[in-house]
Formats: sequence, C-alpha cells, structure tokens
Amino acid sequence: MDDRSNAAPKSCGACTLCCKVMAIRELDKPRGQWCGHCRPGVGCTIYDERPPSCRAFRCLWLLDPLAPDFAKPDRSKAVLDVDSNGDRLVAHCDPATPTAWRNEPLYSYLKGWARKGWADGKAVAAMSGRRVWVITPNEDIDIGELDPRAPFSIEKHADGTVSVHVLPPRAEAEASDPAK
Ligand code: SF4
Ligand code: SF4
Repeated sequence: MDDRSNAAPKSCGACTLCCKVMAIRELDKPRGQWCGHCRPGVGCTIYDERPPSCRAFRCLWLLDPLAPDFAKPDRSKAVLDVDSNGDRLVAHCDPATPTAWRNEPLYSYLKGWARKGWADGKAVAAMSGRRVWVITPNEDIDIGELDPRAPFSIEKHADGTVSVHVLPPRAEAEASDPAK
C-alpha cells in the first residue's frame, strides 16, 4: 500500500557516497573521486561552509520515503539521482564497484523504474565515471565512455528496438571531467 504517512524518516547516517560519485562544480571535484573534505563513512569536515550544490543535494533514496533499504547508497554502492528535467533516473555507481547497478535486488528495482517510465518517455541510466549504460525495460545498452558534458538522446523504434544518440558536449555542462 502506498502509505507515505507511515514511512519512517530517513537520514544519511554513515553514508557519504555522494561525496565520491558526484561532481562538485564549486570545488572542481570530478565524479568518482572522494572530495578532499570528506571523511568517508563519517561526514563533511567543512559542513557549515560546504558549497551550495552540496547543500542542495539529496539523493533519490533520501527523498523518496518508499525507496527500499537495499537502495541506500552505502549498501547498494550506487547513488540514485533524477536529472533536472525529471526525465532520467541515473544510478551513479561507485567506481570501486562500477557495475553495482547490475546487482540484485537493485537491478530489478531499476528495471521496475524503467518499465514504469518508458511509455512516458522517461529513461533509466547507470554511470560509473565516464562509462554509461541505458537501462530499458527489455535490454541494457552499453554506450561506452562519454564526455560527461555530452548529452544523449534515446530513440525508440516501432519494432521495439532502441537507439542511443550521443550529442556534442555542451560547454556550460559539467566542468569536472574525471578523465582529465
Ligand atoms: S548518497 Fe544520499 S544517503 Fe548517501 S550521503 Fe548522499 S544524500 Fe545522503
Ligand atoms: S564539501 Fe562536504 S558535502 Fe560537499 S562533497 Fe565535499 S565532503 Fe561532501
């Protein structure tokens, strides 16, 4: 039953994984590397002065009262985040376990999101550093290593197959590139 009123409040606890997997523009911190201000498993050493993007960030597990315990990032090794348009759910995997998105029960959970959103044009992806996979209801598409500033689009064909198109990098997009 979808009863959010009874959902227990959540907190990050000992999780600090977003301080590794996400890029922090203000700090020029690339994706997939620990922030120098993080004590992994403990917290932020500059908490009161942390940048605005850190203050604003809440992963999907934290935001969604119904997100299951197994999807907590320090357990699943993947930080779930929805892009700014709300069109794409991304599992940002710890580079130490780049295919964490394939582990059950997280994999079935992501497939469930893919099935729910597919008809409405929403998509699910997994990332680890530069490597990107698109997770559709019927297949998983490895689109290889991408410039993090390069958007990609997903085209669905009448026969049920899917094509992924990588577009030129946007200058204003994420500045921190783990490959540099
Ligand atoms: S990944 Fe989510 S649960 Fe973990 S520290 Fe960041 S916001 Fe909190
Ligand atoms: S500044 Fe603090 S909150 Fe932001 S990424 Fe670094 S350790 Fe995490």
